[in-house]
Amino acid sequence: MDYEYLITKMEKYADQKGVPIMEKDGINFLTEFIKLNNVKKILEIGTAIGYSAINMALVDDGVTVTSIERDKDRYLQAIKNVKEFNLEDRITLLLCDALEVDIDDEFDLIFIDAAKSQYIKFFEKFSKNLAKKGFIVTDNIDFHGLTNSDKSVMSKNLRQLVTKLEKYINFLKDNEEFKTRFFKVGDGIAISVRKKSYNE
Ligand code: SAH
Ligand code: MG
Repeated sequence: MDYEYLITKMEKYADQKGVPIMEKDGINFLTEFIKLNNVKKILEIGTAIGYSAINMALVDDGVTVTSIERDKDRYLQAIKNVKEFNLEDRITLLLCDALEVDIDDEFDLIFIDAAKSQYIKFFEKFSKNLAKKGFIVTDNIDFHGLTNSDKSVMSKNLRQLVTKLEKYINFLKDNEEFKTRFFKVGDGIAISVRKKSYNE
């Protein structure tokens, strides 16, 4: 099957419908990271149409992805896309609010790419599902360059969202348990690991 064609088809669909999938260099960075670190079991918060889940699953036959989406139309589109790639065996899609579901599995990597206003909550809730030496990856840290920029020109809603994202960045920087590196790639990506894992 021609994966390249299907990937491009998803990118076009997202573009036309205004679905905020990962930027190309962002997804390339993430899949390269998954390859280099031999990540196998992934939990994703924010499926949208399955673009990042599919790209991550295509890294290696041993990769499995569990992905959560609360929007029904996007979830249904994601199901369709996963089928087109024949990845139903390795991608599990859940239709629910990530803050209301209980997952008891453990994952090598947790990818946070959902409502930016809830990033701290996602991080706190799902870090219990992270393997000892696992990674928490967060997308849209730069928010098109809006974080740490002049907020006086922004609408109230936007300003509140940017403020929440800045709080998340500080939450990561000041975190006792996790150490985070920030990468200026795509829309800004953060990668967090437990500090303890360095000393073991
Ligand atoms: N990871 C995708 C893009 C996700 S866009 C990709 O790169 O291909 C963010 C998605 O998160 C949206 O579709 C939105 O509906 C979903 N979302 C936001 N908050 C959520 C929540 N609390 N629980 C589940 N899904 C959520
Ligand atoms: Mg994103």
